[in-house]
Amino acid sequence: MLGCSDSRVAPGTICGLPPGSLFVHRNIANLVNNVDVAAMSVIQYAVGILQVQHIVVCGHYDCGGINAAVRNDDHPSPLANWLRNIRDVYRMHREELSSIQDQEVRARRLVEINVIEQAINLYKTRIVQQRRIETYQNLEEHGFVQPKIHPCVYDPATGKLVRLDARA
Ligand SMILES: [Zn+2]
Repeated sequence: MLGCSDSRVAPGTICGLPPGSLFVHRNIANLVNNVDVAAMSVIQYAVGILQVQHIVVCGHYDCGGINAAVRNDDHPSPLANWLRNIRDVYRMHREELSSIQDQEVRARRLVEINVIEQAINLYKTRIVQQRRIETYQNLEEHGFVQPKIHPCVYDPATGKLVRLDARA
């Protein structure tokens, strides 16, 4: 699972899985950035060595990182540089997002869009592409092309984890 550092987003608990089930990487606003050595190492190990079959990219509503980007809060570096990644996602979807008047609704939508963009970033990584080709070429052994990527949003207010449509 790739999730947010927010303390409410406890990966095992929200997925209903016991210890030993999940390999986890967390950072502010669950970003997949291909120059982030920590995230890329986790993905490399999980996909290449552990050969995980599923990766959940999990965002959450009321995310401080997303809210900071929406409000254009000023933070010193390195946080400012990190939040810039979210601002880039915002910019790519400016038309849709700026048409939403309510700031809270806009932030919720950005949480969803961000998860989908990060799932795409993950999908495009070399290690994921390589493993998908391998498993595609041996479908009989693997059953399906792996790893499958699941963009999800957790709502701390309701405790619900919802899977998003990757094409949304
Ligand atoms: Zn968060």
